[in-house]
Amino acid sequence: MDRRDREELERFRSRGRRALTLLFVLWTVLIAVSLAWNVRVTLTNLKESALIQAKAIADKDVLYRRWASSLGGLYVNTVRGVEPNPYLAGHPDRDLVVRSDIHLTLVNPEYMSRMVADLQEQSVGIKTHMTSLEPINPANAPDFWERRALQGIQGAGSDVHSVEELDGERYMRLMVPLISEEGCLECHAPQGYAAGDVCGGLSVLIPLSPLYGQARHDLLAHSLTHAIIWLIGMFGIGMAHSKHQRADLARRRTEWELKLAKESAESANRAKSEFLANMSHEIRTPMNAIIGMTELTLETELSKDQREYLDMVQVSADSLLKVINDILDFSKIEAGMLDFEEIPFDLREVVEKTVLALALRAHQKGLEIVCRIAPEVPAQVVGDPMRVRQVLINLIGNGIKFTDRGEVTVLVDLDRKVDRAGEGNDCVLRFTVRDTGIGIPQEQLQRLFQSFTQVDSSTTRNFGGTGLGLAISRQMVEMMGGLIRVESRVRKGSSFVFSVPFRVAEETGELLFPRPEAAAGRRALVVDDNGSSRLILREMLSDLGMEVTLLEGGVDVLQQLEEALRGGKPFDLLLLDSRMPGMDGFSVAEAVRSSPTLEVPMVMMLSSDRVSEDSVRCRKLGITSYLVKPVRRSELFETILVELFGEDGKAACSEQGIGTPMPEAEHPKGGANREEVHVLLAEDNLLNRKVAVALMEKRGWRVTSVGNGRAAVEALKKGEFDLVLMDIQMPDLDGLDATRLIRASEDETGRHVPIIGLTAHAMKKDREACLSAGMDEYVSKPIDQNMLYAAIERQLTGNKGAGEGSNIDDLSGVRQTLEQNHSFIGEFVEEFLEEYPGELRRLREALAAGDGGAVERIAHGLKSVVGLFRADGAYRLARDLERAGEAMTLGEAETLCGELALELERMGEVLSSARREARAAG
Ligand code: ADP
Repeated sequence: MDRRDREELERFRSRGRRALTLLFVLWTVLIAVSLAWNVRVTLTNLKESALIQAKAIADKDVLYRRWASSLGGLYVNTVRGVEPNPYLAGHPDRDLVVRSDIHLTLVNPEYMSRMVADLQEQSVGIKTHMTSLEPINPANAPDFWERRALQGIQGAGSDVHSVEELDGERYMRLMVPLISEEGCLECHAPQGYAAGDVCGGLSVLIPLSPLYGQARHDLLAHSLTHAIIWLIGMFGIGMAHSKHQRADLARRRTEWELKLAKESAESANRAKSEFLANMSHEIRTPMNAIIGMTELTLETELSKDQREYLDMVQVSADSLLKVINDILDFSKIEAGMLDFEEIPFDLREVVEKTVLALALRAHQKGLEIVCRIAPEVPAQVVGDPMRVRQVLINLIGNGIKFTDRGEVTVLVDLDRKVDRAGEGNDCVLRFTVRDTGIGIPQEQLQRLFQSFTQVDSSTTRNFGGTGLGLAISRQMVEMMGGLIRVESRVRKGSSFVFSVPFRVAEETGELLFPRPEAAAGRRALVVDDNGSSRLILREMLSDLGMEVTLLEGGVDVLQQLEEALRGGKPFDLLLLDSRMPGMDGFSVAEAVRSSPTLEVPMVMMLSSDRVSEDSVRCRKLGITSYLVKPVRRSELFETILVELFGEDGKAACSEQGIGTPMPEAEHPKGGANREEVHVLLAEDNLLNRKVAVALMEKRGWRVTSVGNGRAAVEALKKGEFDLVLMDIQMPDLDGLDATRLIRASEDETGRHVPIIGLTAHAMKKDREACLSAGMDEYVSKPIDQNMLYAAIERQLTGNKGAGEGSNIDDLSGVRQTLEQNHSFIGEFVEEFLEEYPGELRRLREALAAGDGGAVERIAHGLKSVVGLFRADGAYRLARDLERAGEAMTLGEAETLCGELALELERMGEVLSSARREARAAG
């Protein structure tokens, strides 16, 4: 657990403690409120019952009084201890003696009430007191409370009550009005009372102490109950909280563990990638020397044995390189580091060249290899040509490997068109690689695309391989948004089909492959033993407008030619497959040439081998048109049209855009005058240096080689060079730093020497590092000589691109935009330069916060800005980033963000220098 985790745990615990305290306080407050409410209710009840009691007594008193006064008083026996009422002393009949000598005295209502009150007070402690504001009897004079109460009842005519303290005792005091009755007037008439008047009040005092005793009991019971409930509640809360805490802690612990596991997996992945990058470098560097040296040695005088051995070295090195590449690709896919490009490319060229590159291998096994690209397939599509090529190489390679007899056919068709809704794909292309090989048992088909799966996994198996090719192909196809499947029958052959969606390149629009029909009406006789090949040739020639006749073998050719001649419609073209069972192409050609009657304007030979003796035989036979199978459509058209129509044919070709020349080692083409070219080579590895020097010299270029970056910088200061080949990893000063120094010094001179990086790192970021250091192109090691030559030609002829499969554009769009819109410099450039670092920072913050929505928004904003400047690379990256933000694929977004930052930096440099120039120009 690191410091951040510990702090997080402490924060979590203290949050838990706070929550627990809060719950305790809330519970206590709740219980306290309930208790208080109970106390209040008890006390209110106490007063209520005291009042009820007081009222009952008052009512009873009033009732007795009314009864007594309605009788005009009562005579009672004085024997019982009743004193004659002194206030009735003036009453003539106050004391009576009845015949039986019983002494009676008159007890008036007031006197009766007083006596009863005295009795009541003595027996139950409840006092009643008859009182009036003008009492006749001074004992009835009101006390202070009674006076106020009497004033109150006289005003309102209703009862008055309150709790009062009297002589240290609390009482419920009640005053009820006394209404004069007829009987009262006897004594009170002189005071001016009339019947029905309020003549005073009856005051009742209920002592509260007995009731308080009861209430104390109740309150104790309430308190006890509340205390118990409080304790149970506290216990419950504590338990629930601790359970919740434990669960939460367990959840968090799982999260931490997951996070740790994820981090360690990521770091292991990073370590793996770095290891792979390093290993790739370590392995490719010596491989470069092995392959290069072998190639060079093979071009020297050698004995038969030596050539054989070296051929074997070459084959082994190639297959070792394939294994390394497979493993590297597979690991990159596993690590999610495989990058895909979105660039326009010529699909036909990619497919045809791939097939051609593998044709030799097929032909060496005596296999026919045919390639047909349907005319509906768009000429230019947007996608990743390298990946398409890689999948095709895997499938075609397998086809050749697992086929001993027959053919391997490569077909590309338009699977379906897709509407351009939004920015959708325009078409789905279907690629089929079919062979007539050993086939795959049905039960193996399911597992075939899993890694390390081979149908024959025994140690005695006939075929080498890693079992990774199909797994990689499937992953690549799926990452391009497509699907791959296989159909196969044992001993009949297999057919691998994959479909991939592509966008049709803007500039191509709906343009399909040209159908020139320039040779309309001409007749062609095609002789080929291979059915697929015959059909494809017929289709191609028909596109030229030719009338095509097909023959399976050479035996009937002469007869066919003669018949046509006789019929007045001779053939203009005889297209012969060089290798056919029975009578081969050469024998047919020979027979035709030696026939005195037959004259075919054009005989074309289709051979399986570019360098074999076929070409010598052709020349001997006077056959000038000689093509290697599989025939490329444009090549076939060009050859036929030029041969048949001379200059007019050439014109037709260029008009139709046919005949793109192929860069070939044996037939180099290019604009640079080789004698004048002087190349500076910076490479520390002696063997690699020798390979590169030999490659340059083979083209007649002059080379000066140095062993590190510093020496390269020095050499450039002293001499004139047309181009620099710069290795990346070198001691003292590496290729990137050296390039930066060279570019910095060029800022003063205004020169720009093309620099091509030689990188053994296969990772995209390393290649991007080349470009951002200021290199013009890069070529990866082991060096493919054709690629290197092509890159050099491109740089020397000024036909520059961003190099092998790069997503980074050369910013020519930006430069052009600035040239065309001078006002941009004042208006937008300033703003862009100020704003973009902040935008990048916000982008990174949004990524760190995992806020996909913000990433999407910011990337969207950046997209429109870079779009304004026509920075295509940055635009594509911002667009992808926007999509990644939307889809919440933040890992991908992070990579894209890094790439975008680099791209914006490059763009910023161009803009700053434009601003500097504008300022200098005033
Ligand atoms: P590798 O060829 O390096 O062994 P792949 O992944 O390319 O690995 O192929 C896996 C297995 O699938 C092969 O070993 C082979 O058994 C089978 N396979 C692939 N392509 C074909 C084919 N065209 N014909 C017959 N078997 C094939």
